Amino acid sequence: MSNDILDTPELNLRAGKPVAVKASGCWVYDTEGRDYLDGSSGTICVNIGHGVPEIISAMTEQAQQLGFAHRNQFASQAVRELTAEIHRVTGHRFKEVVYTNSGSEATETALRLVLNHHAARGDVDRTVVLAQFPSYHGMTAGALSISGHPQRRRNLDPLHDNRLSLGTVAARDAASSLPTLAEWEERFAAIGPERIAAVVVEPVSGAAGGAAELPDETLRGLRELCDRSGTLLVIDEVMTGFGRTGEWFGHDRSGVRPDLVITAKGLSAGYTPIGACLVSREVLPGQSATDAAVGHTMSGNPVSAATALAVLRYMQEHDLVAHAAKLGPLLTERLAEVTAGLEFTRPPRGRGLLQGVPLVQDAEEFATNPLAPRICAAAMEYGLQLYPAGVDARSQTILVAPPLTITEAELDILIARLEQALRLVAATTHAR
Ligand code: PMP
Repeated sequence: MSNDILDTPELNLRAGKPVAVKASGCWVYDTEGRDYLDGSSGTICVNIGHGVPEIISAMTEQAQQLGFAHRNQFASQAVRELTAEIHRVTGHRFKEVVYTNSGSEATETALRLVLNHHAARGDVDRTVVLAQFPSYHGMTAGALSISGHPQRRRNLDPLHDNRLSLGTVAARDAASSLPTLAEWEERFAAIGPERIAAVVVEPVSGAAGGAAELPDETLRGLRELCDRSGTLLVIDEVMTGFGRTGEWFGHDRSGVRPDLVITAKGLSAGYTPIGACLVSREVLPGQSATDAAVGHTMSGNPVSAATALAVLRYMQEHDLVAHAAKLGPLLTERLAEVTAGLEFTRPPRGRGLLQGVPLVQDAEEFATNPLAPRICAAAMEYGLQLYPAGVDARSQTILVAPPLTITEAELDILIARLEQALRLVAATTHAR
């Protein structure tokens, strides 16, 4: 039996799913006229809600004016303005913004830049990239070579025989989700710090880790460990970036300065495919992104760039980062209330509007009949879209991550529908 929770028949995500026909704000509608509250912002990307007229105008205008120009042949105004805006919201901490079409490609780009960086110093044996277990850094082969998501790596090991990664660092303690700094240090010592090219971490581990937070002290400790070892620190902000955690980026509050940041999802709020790798001054001294052999045909296409620019402006005009910070604690409180007394849930975790309800299920039952997809399927029946996360029984979680525009009244509806779904699952499962 497949161990990918998305393959679970009850989830209906691959077959028999409702046909979405339109969406507006936090709501999606199907062909039957049913409404679904988007409690997961699609796959945690529709950060400003659906169908925002300002974004649609910006997309249309750009498509009419200049639909495509390749970055090697022309500079485009849309890309220039977007890059300036990204530099502004990141406090001019990065030297370059390298565009891609997805988060996975941004991970690939980061890996390429990491290896270029070390190769430029003659440090060619520094090839190990370490990530956490669990983690999700993308679905392309290079990104999967460092991924702590065994189900998604399935059958790809032959491709990774010469992989640059020696894999992931996992927590030994069964009660904690993510490795401690001591566990990272042990792994560095075991491999040899001089061989470790980069460490890649998510500030709040999403699809794989189920909203488990990387403590700020661990992140600061990792920065020091990397500095001592000549290792680059890459932060994957694909899910956490652009306001999701109640700050522009999940790592902001730690004060840590990463060497590279991987972004996508919230950058265009799901309106167009775009990702970006933010590159610090230290990584590309004397080199520009064009020398680095990165980029794809559509990377930094003007329509995606104009869309992302409009999204970033919209976020600032509506103060959405502050709104996410304000609603985060309320969401935690409401999730704690609605799950109190249930035997198959643990207290909510996460940050801002990226939160999760961790589930309790034994590993054997998880392997054959995981709870998360069942809860998501039940929620869909009641008109609520959620996201099943986790790679094993320990990380299995329901992610709750509505658009940053959600109102308190909509949050009430989200909680009411979640309560119905949880009741249904409680009534039909022995894990009560
Ligand atoms: N990194 C993280 C943390 C993600 O959550 C994802 C997508 N879920 C990716 C990378 C890959 O992004 P994409 O699906 O856009 O390729």
